[in-house]
Amino acid sequence: MLSYRHSYHAGNFADILKHVVLVEIFEHLCQKESPFEYIDTHSGSGSYNLNSAHATKLEEHAGGIDKLNAEHYPELSRYFEVINTHNKASGNTSSRCKYYPGSPAIAKYFLRPQDRAWLYELHPQDYQFLCKNIGANKKIRMQSEDGLAGLLSLLPPKSRRGLILIDPSYEVKAEYNSVFSTIETAYKKFATGTYALWYPVVDRNKINLLEKKLIRSGIKNIQRFELGIAEDSNERGMTSSGMIVINPPWQMHSNMQSLLPKLAKTLGQDNELFYKCDILVGE
Ligand code: SAM
Repeated sequence: MLSYRHSYHAGNFADILKHVVLVEIFEHLCQKESPFEYIDTHSGSGSYNLNSAHATKLEEHAGGIDKLNAEHYPELSRYFEVINTHNKASGNTSSRCKYYPGSPAIAKYFLRPQDRAWLYELHPQDYQFLCKNIGANKKIRMQSEDGLAGLLSLLPPKSRRGLILIDPSYEVKAEYNSVFSTIETAYKKFATGTYALWYPVVDRNKINLLEKKLIRSGIKNIQRFELGIAEDSNERGMTSSGMIVINPPWQMHSNMQSLLPKLAKTLGQDNELFYKCDILVGE
């Protein structure tokens, strides 16, 4: 089943958390000259026109990127630089974000000549858009195949430095199990890689279970960053979303500790702040 289209949701509060985390990991990887590999198991189409029929149907970006003022977030200067560069390259001359960059476009911004990326996308149309928006070359390979199987076939990467983004749509309930078992197997092949797993909080029980399984897995150095706009509820759809990061950059936890309450205040729909910043398993 492939009914999920990220074009309806691009630039929402969940994308902000996911991409802010991604930018910080890329910045960290780029501090060393040695090459790294980026694997995006669920790439989407790479770039999203916020004026498109899909984006304007739900207007989720109005509660996300449209609410963030770059001047109030100097700590996110690199994230905004990625967005601005992407908008200029896509032909947007206004200062408003019209083209929201997806994870592949963010990766493309950071990749240096020595780095490599593998992008997986199963939806036939989004795969076509991805190829058009990002452009395959020697550095960036795209596959219209299952990203979790693809990930396992690539590990360990030649460079022995890598970032793996696992960002499923969780359309099928079994995905909560398959992401966990894939991470467990992947970690056995490549324990030093940085893994970033995105999750939605639609049913908190599912996240609690995923968290428990990760804690018991024997995997070390796991942190969790979560940002919400409202209290957990089984009736209101996604109220929070999170990123579970294995082997995060050393300064990420303290950066997120100060950033998350600030984002929760800007993006939240209630007066209460909804966020979590935890070390699930130490180093
Ligand atoms: N990572 C993207 C970003 O941050 O811009 C958004 C990805 S979106 C949440 C999830 C995507 O995964 C959808 O485009 C969907 O078509 C794709 N997808 C679903 N199942 C897949 C699978 N097994 N392998 C690869 N892609 C898949």
